This record gives sequence, C-alpha cells and structure tokens, in this order.
Amino acid sequence: MNKALKNIVIVGGGTAGWLTAAIIAAQHNSHHPDGVNITLIESPDIKPIGVGEGTWPTMRNTLEKIGISEDDFFRCTDASFKQGSQFIGWNNGQVNDSYYHPFIAPHGFGQTNISASWQQFNSHIPFAHAISFQPYLCDHGCAPKQQQTPEYAGVANYGYHLNAGKFSALLQQHCIEKLGVQHISDNVIKVNGEVKENIASVTTNKNGDISAQLFIDCSGSNAILLGQHYQVPFINKKDILFNDTALAVQVPYHKPDAPIASHTISTAQKAGWIWDIGLPTRRGVGYVYASDYLTDSEAETTLRDYLKQDLPAEAVKEAVIRKISFTPGHRENFWHKNCVAVGMAAGFLEPLEASALALVEMSANMIAKELPADMSIIEITAKRFNQRFHYRWQRIIEFLKLHYLLSKRTDSQYWLDNQSATSVPQRLQELIKLWRFQAPSYNDFSEIEEIFPAASYQYILYGMGFITEKRTTSTLYDNTALAEKYAFENRQLCDKYLAGLPKNRQLINHILARGKNKNIHSI
Ligand SMILES: Cc1cc2nc3c(=O)[nH]c(=O)nc-3n(C[C@H](O)[C@H](O)[C@H](O)COP(=O)(O)OP(=O)(O)OC[C@H]3O[C@@H](n4cnc5c(N)ncnc54)[C@H](O)[C@@H]3O)c2cc1C
Repeated sequence: MNKALKNIVIVGGGTAGWLTAAIIAAQHNSHHPDGVNITLIESPDIKPIGVGEGTWPTMRNTLEKIGISEDDFFRCTDASFKQGSQFIGWNNGQVNDSYYHPFIAPHGFGQTNISASWQQFNSHIPFAHAISFQPYLCDHGCAPKQQQTPEYAGVANYGYHLNAGKFSALLQQHCIEKLGVQHISDNVIKVNGEVKENIASVTTNKNGDISAQLFIDCSGSNAILLGQHYQVPFINKKDILFNDTALAVQVPYHKPDAPIASHTISTAQKAGWIWDIGLPTRRGVGYVYASDYLTDSEAETTLRDYLKQDLPAEAVKEAVIRKISFTPGHRENFWHKNCVAVGMAAGFLEPLEASALALVEMSANMIAKELPADMSIIEITAKRFNQRFHYRWQRIIEFLKLHYLLSKRTDSQYWLDNQSATSVPQRLQELIKLWRFQAPSYNDFSEIEEIFPAASYQYILYGMGFITEKRTTSTLYDNTALAEKYAFENRQLCDKYLAGLPKNRQLINHILARGKNKNIHSI
C-alpha cells in the first residue's frame, strides 16, 4: 500500500489558512503534478476575524519564501513598517512613563554584561535607547531602510503593520494563481471518521465529501476539527492573562500626510491597553480589556477619549466600533491523529506583542518541514509538534504576563490582581527571583528557535524599572570597558541612521509609486 502523504485539506480561509497553505504549497511543489495537493475550504458565510494587523520580522522571510515581492505586498495590503512596540503608561502610569521593545537585539548582546553596565553608568537613559539605535528611529518616525535597499533587506530589523483583510486576499490570490492551491468556497457541515481514528473526509454543503490524508484546522476559534470533532480540550488561561474583549476601530489620520508611526503604540489603561497601529491609509486602534474589571460602555468611552487626542470630535463620533470577544487559552494538544490546528483554532491569548501570526508561521513551517513522507510516522511527527508548541505557548504566556506583573500601577484592581503572585506561573516566579541577581541570558531560553529570546526579556524588565543586583565579586563577563564601547558605538550608529534614513511615510510613498509602474497583482 502506498502511504506517501499526497493530499492535504485545510479548513478555513482566514490569515492562518492562507498563510499555512502558501508555506506548505511553496515547499512541497503544489503547482506541480508530483507535488503535494492542497485544497482549502472556506465558508462563504463565516467571515474571518479580520484583525491581526501587526507582524514580526519573520514575515519578511515567509513572504520571500512563498514568492511575493515586497513591493506587491506593500501595494496590496496597505502595509507600513513596524520596528517594535512602545509601551506607554505600563510602569506607573505617570507622565514620561514609556519604553520600547524594539525588534533589534541590544548592540553587543551576549558579548558582555550590557545591562549591568547600563544600570551602573547609563541608567539616566532608558535601557532600550542606551543599547539600541532602533528606539531613536521610532521616535523620529524613520523607516528601517533606504529607497535603494533591496526587497526584504533592512538597515534595522523590521516587520509590518497591514490591513488583515487585504493580506488574506493577497495570499488567496497568490496561492491559487501561483502556488497551485485548490480553493473551495463552501461550508464544512460534517467531519467523517470515528473519533478514535483518522479523519477520512469532510462533508461540504455543495461539493460533497472531500477526503485527504492530513487535515489542517484553520477554522478559527470554533476549531471544528480538533475541538468539535476530536474534542481536544481547550485550556483556559484567564487566571493568568485576564483580557478577553477588544473594541476595534479604524480611523483616518488628522491630516492625509501625517507621519506614520514606525512601531505599535501600546498605551496602558485602567483594565487593559490600547493599541494604535499606523497604516498609510488609516490608523487601526483598539482597546483590549478584561470584562471582569470593565464594562463595554466604560471601555468605549475610554477608547473614544483616546481618539479625541488628535481627531476632531465629529470624526470620533462617527467612528464605528467593533466588539470582539475571545477566551485566552489554547488547545491541550495541537496535532491529534491526522489533524493539526493552526491559528485561532489552536488558541489565542491576546494581541500584546502580536505573536499570533508568528506562531502561525512557525506552525506552518514545522508542518512543511516535517510533513510525514510516509503516513506510518505521523504519530511521531504529531508528538514532536505537540512538544514543541506546548513549550512555545507556555513561553508566550509567561512573556505576556511579565508586562503586567512588573507594573507598579495601583489605580485599579485589575493592575493589583495582575501583580499578585497567585496569577503568575511558577516558572516565571522563579525566573523573576533569579533575575534579581543575574540578567536574563541564553541559559534561561535555550531552544534553537525561542519565541522570545533573552534580549526581549531584558527590554521589558529594564524598561519597566526592574533592578538586577550587581555582583559583589567580579566576573570576566562583567567587562565594563567593552560594554561602554558598545554603548558608544550605539550612539554613533544612531547618528548615522537618523541622518541617512527616510521617514516611514516617505519610503512607503516611494514604494507605492515604484509599484505603479509594474504589472503586478491587483486586488
Ligand atoms: C483583537 C485582536 C487583535 C489581534 N491582533 C493581532 C496582531 O496584531 N498580530 C497578530 O499576529 N495577530 C493578531 N491577532 C490574531 C489574528 O487576528 C489571528 O491569529 C489571525 O487573524 C488568524 O485567524 P484565523 O485564520 O485562525 O481565524 P479566522 O480569521 O477566524 O478564520 C477562520 C476561517 O475558518 C472558516 N470557517 C469556519 N467555520 C467553517 C466551516 N464550517 N466551513 C468552512 N470554513 C469555515 C471561516 O470562513 C474563516 O475563513 C489578533 C486577534 C484579536 C482578537
């Protein structure tokens, strides 16, 4: 019997479904008769969630690998550059309470104890500014590259802000026209196969039964294959991450040529935080909050007040607000039998640090790399996938929680409860204890592809005013002269890049104008 894996069905045509289809199709030659056949079934009635506007730098590699040009991507998705996040009001909520988590690693990270040296000599400068030039680029609204920098290359590390609906549409068009993915617009109404066995096929409304050897569940939070059919339990994490609701709104700029922020602005509020994302055409703004601590109408008032800071009252009044509810958590396992869940079907925690699409990319990459060449090894593949992603979900939970538990805000029960040890995972409590005496290092996060490296932890800890005690005995790693050299070099890099890099909007305008001359995708 031929057990080669030849046919895959993906259920769901949101960003997760199309990204997964593209990544696997590109790697397994789906446009070729010898390649793996991929069919994506998407309900014409259930709309994708339609949010998810911030990506990680990993998206550059993904887009390049699946064969989309960066100019096309900018033109089709209203994209802008993202160089990290700025957290305002998270530490104590007072004036000037702001720090960055940039995408670039600290200059000289891992070569010497940079954070100890910063604490000793430079703590009058915010940590991220002292050891990375990227916060300065963000402060000045600079792009991370020049006009002549090749596609997907950067002077500074960057990801994107984008229009989620347009991104899905671009991926769909590319998958169908270039990568050989079959598309069926129909509702899956039944999953066929004994619960203890593999899924044999799914029944659709108009297209009958569609069979495959592997089924990828990208059906959103309903998880119709892994959750509803296989009953793989959902692990609720609301005891750690309290947020479960978002109010999202799209607003114009106060003037058409207003600067486009080169980072996501995350401003802490009474019971959550507001994201502010700049696209060339509009801003995407939303309040993510915990419904146990705040009513919807209180949240709406706060969101509209936030918009009033730079929009006329009339525009704020007209802004249409959309409510999205979610349960923070993830499935107990992500791959069961011949079914693997990706995207919201696998779980969702909250948008802080925009890790959801990065996790989709990582999931699809691992599926593509480890796609069983023979179905007899699928259980081993599933076990490896589950181990890896269980680890990753726990690390994301801890990293997100870190932002809340370090806060010194006392203005609401939400912040007090977030700081309470009872809501902090055990491993994170231990690490916090450790970090009082040694800075986060590679030893704390030793996987090859850590989702958040030690450098990210340093940005959050020291951005939030955390103190790591200086050792009383000296070590070779505490090379102050070397650390000072890196700090000096950082200042030089800063001057150089601030002088040479265009503004975010200026470069985007150039890319869009350049794209107009090409005969490319049109959505
Ligand atoms: C408020 C908020 C903000 C976010 N911000 C970010 C961010 O900045 N960055 C980031 O990376 N992520 C973010 N996310 C997460 C991101 O939106 C999702 O990870 C991403 O959109 C992927 O969603 P999905 O494709 O898994 O699900 P969905 O978009 O819900 O798509 C589900 C698909 O399944 C289909 N479907 C469902 N049932 C059936 C059926 N019976 N038959 C056929 N098809 C079916 C639907 O038609 C749809 O196409 C955010 C999420 C929220 C809630």
